[in-house]
Amino acid sequence: MLRMSYQFCPKCTKKLTKRSPSLYVCKNCGFHLYENPRPTNAVILENENGEILFIKREFPPKKNYWDLPGGFVNLNESLEHSVKREIKEELGFDIGDFRYVSSNYGRYLYKGVNYHTLCFTFLSKLHTRKVKTSSTEGSLRFFARNKIPLQRIAFIEVKKGLEKYLSSFQQSPTAKSRK
Ligand SMILES: [Zn+2]
Repeated sequence: MLRMSYQFCPKCTKKLTKRSPSLYVCKNCGFHLYENPRPTNAVILENENGEILFIKREFPPKKNYWDLPGGFVNLNESLEHSVKREIKEELGFDIGDFRYVSSNYGRYLYKGVNYHTLCFTFLSKLHTRKVKTSSTEGSLRFFARNKIPLQRIAFIEVKKGLEKYLSSFQQSPTAKSRK
């Protein structure tokens, strides 16, 4: 069953009351618990042919759906560091320069709790030829930009980041009329 992230006071263990979408209060001890989104990263890795690297998820949630490499930001870690760490962990190489694409809101259902997430999408050119056929998360595959399986992307926030990236390749009406 789905439930909110917090039901009991982490200080005195009595029941929490929801005061606003982001705030739970404990009427017993007065503790305020603010719920914030958990930052995550997703990385668009583009090879020399402009194809994008995807992972077919081997584990729940969203098993067998396509995902970008990335994950949750750890405690005491910058967003940039989390990108470097996740790529190293999942793909086994050091990422080159990367740049910000967009941030998008999502949810992550894990062991009965539906967490709020805020996903930061980044873009990097893939120069390494050492990309394996599988990662710690599942099998790997490159897709051309016009072949990306947008209907089978594991998480809405990752899909939105991809759509933002893809929109930069669409000609604007102004650019067209100048031709
Ligand atoms: Zn309390």
